[in-house]
Amino acid sequence: MHIEDETWTDLETIDTNLGLVPIGSTEQHGPHAPLGTDMFDAESIASNAAEEYSDSVMVAPSIPVGIAEEHRNFTGTLWTDEMTFRQYVRDIVNSLASHGWNHVVIVNGHGGNIPALKAVTAQIIRHDNAYAVPFTWFEAIGDHTSSMGHAGPIETSLLEHTRPESVHTDRLTEAATDATDGWGDWQGKVNLAVDSNEFTDNGVVGDPREASAELGAELLDKATDELCALLDAVRDHDVTPRE
Ligand SMILES: [Zn+2]
Repeated sequence: MHIEDETWTDLETIDTNLGLVPIGSTEQHGPHAPLGTDMFDAESIASNAAEEYSDSVMVAPSIPVGIAEEHRNFTGTLWTDEMTFRQYVRDIVNSLASHGWNHVVIVNGHGGNIPALKAVTAQIIRHDNAYAVPFTWFEAIGDHTSSMGHAGPIETSLLEHTRPESVHTDRLTEAATDATDGWGDWQGKVNLAVDSNEFTDNGVVGDPREASAELGAELLDKATDELCALLDAVRDHDVTPRE
Protein backbone atom coordinates (compact mmCIF):
# COMPACT_ATOMS: atom_id res chain seq x y z
CA MET A 1 0.00 0.00 0.00
CA HIS A 2 1.65 3.20 -1.18
CA ILE A 3 0.86 6.06 1.17
CA GLU A 4 0.94 8.72 -1.54
CA ASP A 5 -1.73 6.92 -3.61
CA GLU A 6 -4.31 6.60 -0.82
CA THR A 7 -6.64 8.90 1.08
CA TRP A 8 -6.11 9.40 4.79
CA THR A 9 -9.55 8.00 5.48
CA ASP A 10 -8.66 4.76 3.72
CA LEU A 11 -5.30 4.53 5.48
CA GLU A 12 -7.07 4.90 8.81
CA THR A 13 -8.87 1.61 8.24
CA ILE A 14 -5.65 -0.41 7.73
CA ASP A 15 -4.35 -2.32 10.71
CA THR A 16 -0.59 -2.74 10.47
CA ASN A 17 2.55 -1.70 12.29
CA LEU A 18 4.87 -2.18 9.28
CA GLY A 19 6.40 0.46 7.06
CA LEU A 20 8.91 0.47 4.21
CA VAL A 21 10.92 3.50 3.11
CA PRO A 22 12.66 3.11 -0.26
CA ILE A 23 15.82 5.19 -0.51
CA GLY A 24 17.96 5.72 -3.55
CA SER A 25 20.29 8.28 -4.96
CA THR A 26 20.27 10.53 -7.99
CA GLU A 27 23.67 9.82 -9.46
CA GLN A 28 25.39 8.81 -12.66
CA HIS A 29 25.00 5.19 -13.76
CA GLY A 30 27.18 5.22 -16.83
CA PRO A 31 26.05 6.04 -20.38
CA HIS A 32 23.39 3.28 -20.41
CA ALA A 33 21.35 3.58 -17.18
CA PRO A 34 19.40 6.51 -15.71
CA LEU A 35 20.48 8.63 -12.75
CA GLY A 36 17.46 7.34 -10.84
CA THR A 37 18.64 3.70 -10.97
CA ASP A 38 19.21 3.31 -7.23
CA MET A 39 15.80 4.74 -6.37
CA PHE A 40 13.99 2.76 -9.08
CA ASP A 41 15.58 -0.50 -7.90
CA ALA A 42 14.82 0.16 -4.22
CA GLU A 43 11.25 1.11 -5.15
CA SER A 44 10.68 -2.07 -7.20
CA ILE A 45 11.81 -4.31 -4.37
CA ALA A 46 9.82 -2.44 -1.72
CA SER A 47 6.66 -2.51 -3.87
CA ASN A 48 7.06 -6.17 -4.70
CA ALA A 49 7.61 -7.13 -1.07
CA ALA A 50 4.60 -5.07 0.07
CA GLU A 51 2.46 -6.90 -2.48
CA GLU A 52 3.73 -10.35 -1.58
CA TYR A 53 3.81 -9.98 2.19
CA SER A 54 1.06 -11.73 4.10
CA ASP A 55 -0.18 -8.54 5.84
CA SER A 56 -0.55 -4.87 4.88
CA VAL A 57 2.65 -2.88 4.69
CA MET A 58 2.78 0.90 4.31
CA VAL A 59 5.23 1.99 1.65
CA ALA A 60 6.42 5.58 2.03
CA PRO A 61 7.27 7.73 -1.00
CA SER A 62 10.82 7.06 -2.14
CA ILE A 63 13.64 9.32 -1.04
CA PRO A 64 15.47 10.29 -4.24
CA VAL A 65 18.69 11.94 -3.02
CA GLY A 66 21.34 10.41 -0.77
CA ILE A 67 25.02 10.54 -0.01
CA ALA A 68 26.64 10.59 -3.44
CA GLU A 69 29.19 13.37 -3.58
CA GLU A 70 31.73 10.84 -4.87
CA HIS A 71 29.93 11.03 -8.23
CA ARG A 72 29.91 14.86 -8.34
CA ASN A 73 32.05 15.04 -11.48
CA PHE A 74 29.36 13.33 -13.55
CA THR A 75 26.61 15.65 -14.78
CA GLY A 76 23.31 15.51 -12.95
CA THR A 77 24.49 13.81 -9.77
CA LEU A 78 22.84 15.23 -6.63
CA TRP A 79 23.84 14.72 -3.02
CA THR A 80 23.27 15.77 0.55
CA ASP A 81 25.56 15.64 3.57
CA GLU A 82 25.37 12.83 6.10
CA MET A 83 23.85 14.76 9.01
CA THR A 84 21.09 16.27 6.86
CA PHE A 85 20.34 12.85 5.40
CA ARG A 86 20.24 11.15 8.80
CA GLN A 87 17.93 13.79 10.27
CA TYR A 88 15.59 13.60 7.26
CA VAL A 89 15.38 9.79 7.44
CA ARG A 90 14.81 9.94 11.19
CA ASP A 91 11.96 12.45 10.73
CA ILE A 92 10.29 10.24 8.13
CA VAL A 93 10.54 7.13 10.31
CA ASN A 94 9.16 9.03 13.29
CA SER A 95 6.26 10.39 11.28
CA LEU A 96 5.42 6.86 10.12
CA ALA A 97 5.64 5.71 13.74
CA SER A 98 3.26 8.46 14.87
CA HIS A 99 0.52 6.73 12.81
CA GLY A 100 1.28 3.35 14.33
CA TRP A 101 3.58 2.13 11.52
CA ASN A 102 6.45 1.92 13.94
CA HIS A 103 8.35 -1.13 12.65
CA VAL A 104 10.17 0.22 9.63
CA VAL A 105 12.55 -1.27 7.10
CA ILE A 106 14.52 1.21 5.04
CA VAL A 107 14.96 -0.34 1.60
CA ASN A 108 18.21 1.04 0.30
CA GLY A 109 19.57 1.06 -3.25
CA HIS A 110 22.85 2.95 -2.82
CA GLY A 111 26.09 1.79 -1.19
CA GLY A 112 27.05 5.33 -0.14
CA ASN A 113 23.98 5.50 2.12
CA ILE A 114 24.87 2.39 4.15
CA PRO A 115 27.02 3.87 6.98
CA ALA A 116 24.56 6.73 7.58
CA LEU A 117 21.57 4.36 7.59
CA LYS A 118 23.25 2.08 10.12
CA ALA A 119 23.95 5.09 12.35
CA VAL A 120 20.49 6.63 12.13
CA THR A 121 18.59 3.39 12.67
CA ALA A 122 20.67 2.69 15.80
CA GLN A 123 19.78 6.19 17.01
CA ILE A 124 16.08 5.57 16.30
CA ILE A 125 16.07 2.23 18.15
CA ARG A 126 17.85 3.70 21.15
CA HIS A 127 15.99 6.99 21.52
CA ASP A 128 12.69 7.02 19.56
CA ASN A 129 9.39 5.15 19.76
CA ALA A 130 10.15 3.09 16.68
CA TYR A 131 12.18 0.13 15.50
CA ALA A 132 13.99 0.62 12.18
CA VAL A 133 16.60 -1.33 10.24
CA PRO A 134 18.26 -0.77 6.87
CA PHE A 135 18.00 -3.38 4.11
CA THR A 136 20.34 -2.85 1.19
CA TRP A 137 18.86 -5.00 -1.57
CA PHE A 138 22.10 -5.91 -3.33
CA GLU A 139 23.47 -7.38 -0.09
CA ALA A 140 20.50 -9.79 -0.09
CA ILE A 141 21.05 -11.58 -3.41
CA GLY A 142 23.43 -14.34 -2.35
CA ASP A 143 26.53 -14.86 -4.50
CA HIS A 144 25.39 -12.24 -7.01
CA THR A 145 26.52 -9.50 -4.59
CA SER A 146 30.13 -10.13 -5.65
CA SER A 147 29.42 -8.93 -9.20
CA MET A 148 27.64 -5.74 -8.05
CA GLY A 149 30.09 -3.09 -9.35
CA HIS A 150 28.40 0.18 -10.25
CA ALA A 151 25.88 0.34 -13.10
CA GLY A 152 27.17 -3.19 -13.76
CA PRO A 153 25.29 -6.43 -14.48
CA ILE A 154 23.28 -6.51 -11.25
CA GLU A 155 21.67 -3.07 -11.27
CA THR A 156 21.28 -3.17 -15.05
CA SER A 157 19.56 -6.58 -14.90
CA LEU A 158 17.01 -5.41 -12.35
CA LEU A 159 16.20 -2.39 -14.51
CA GLU A 160 15.96 -4.56 -17.64
CA HIS A 161 13.32 -6.59 -15.83
CA THR A 162 11.39 -3.80 -14.10
CA ARG A 163 11.86 -0.79 -16.42
CA PRO A 164 13.26 -2.08 -19.72
CA GLU A 165 12.58 1.21 -21.48
CA SER A 166 15.00 3.01 -19.15
CA VAL A 167 18.12 1.06 -20.23
CA HIS A 168 19.99 2.12 -23.38
CA THR A 169 20.92 -1.41 -24.46
CA ASP A 170 22.58 -0.06 -27.64
CA ARG A 171 25.21 1.57 -25.40
CA LEU A 172 26.21 -1.50 -23.39
CA THR A 173 29.37 -2.13 -25.42
CA GLU A 174 30.44 1.49 -25.03
CA ALA A 175 29.62 1.29 -21.32
CA ALA A 176 31.76 -1.84 -20.91
CA THR A 177 34.68 -0.57 -22.99
CA ASP A 178 35.33 2.48 -20.82
CA ALA A 179 34.46 0.78 -17.53
CA THR A 180 36.80 -0.39 -14.82
CA ASP A 181 36.56 -3.69 -12.98
CA GLY A 182 36.94 -2.62 -9.34
CA TRP A 183 35.59 0.13 -7.11
CA GLY A 184 38.43 2.44 -5.97
CA ASP A 185 42.15 2.93 -6.40
CA TRP A 186 43.66 0.54 -3.91
CA GLN A 187 46.99 0.36 -2.15
CA GLY A 188 46.63 -2.70 0.04
CA LYS A 189 43.43 -2.15 2.05
CA VAL A 190 43.50 1.63 1.57
CA ASN A 191 41.40 3.30 -1.12
CA LEU A 192 43.40 6.28 -2.43
CA ALA A 193 40.45 7.71 -4.38
CA VAL A 194 37.67 9.91 -2.99
CA ASP A 195 35.73 10.54 -6.21
CA SER A 196 34.59 7.88 -8.65
CA ASN A 197 36.03 9.64 -11.72
CA GLU A 198 39.50 8.86 -10.32
CA PHE A 199 39.06 5.21 -11.27
CA THR A 200 36.29 5.06 -13.88
CA ASP A 201 36.12 7.25 -17.00
CA ASN A 202 32.44 6.73 -17.77
CA GLY A 203 31.18 5.93 -14.27
CA VAL A 204 30.79 2.19 -14.80
CA VAL A 205 32.36 -0.55 -12.67
CA GLY A 206 31.72 -4.06 -13.99
CA ASP A 207 30.41 -5.31 -17.33
CA PRO A 208 26.76 -4.42 -17.95
CA ARG A 209 26.77 -6.63 -21.09
CA GLU A 210 26.35 -9.54 -18.67
CA ALA A 211 22.96 -8.15 -17.61
CA SER A 212 19.68 -9.81 -18.58
CA ALA A 213 16.02 -9.39 -17.76
CA GLU A 214 16.01 -13.05 -16.61
CA LEU A 215 18.70 -12.34 -14.05
CA GLY A 216 16.75 -9.22 -13.05
CA ALA A 217 13.66 -11.35 -12.34
CA GLU A 218 15.74 -13.73 -10.24
CA LEU A 219 17.27 -10.83 -8.28
CA LEU A 220 13.86 -9.29 -7.66
CA ASP A 221 12.52 -12.60 -6.32
CA LYS A 222 15.53 -13.21 -4.12
CA ALA A 223 15.60 -9.70 -2.62
CA THR A 224 11.81 -9.78 -2.15
CA ASP A 225 11.99 -13.06 -0.23
CA GLU A 226 14.75 -11.70 1.99
CA LEU A 227 12.81 -8.52 2.64
CA CYS A 228 9.63 -10.43 3.53
CA ALA A 229 11.63 -12.59 5.96
CA LEU A 230 13.03 -9.41 7.49
CA LEU A 231 9.51 -7.99 7.96
CA ASP A 232 8.62 -11.18 9.84
CA ALA A 233 11.67 -10.70 12.04
CA VAL A 234 11.11 -7.03 12.89
CA ARG A 235 7.35 -6.83 13.36
CA ASP A 236 7.33 -7.92 17.01
CA HIS A 237 10.33 -5.94 18.21
CA ASP A 238 9.98 -3.73 21.25
CA VAL A 239 9.77 -0.06 20.30
CA THR A 240 10.37 1.36 23.78
CA PRO A 241 13.38 3.72 23.75
CA ARG A 242 16.48 2.16 25.31
CA GLU A 243 17.60 5.23 27.25
ZN1 LIG B 1 23.49 2.28 -8.26
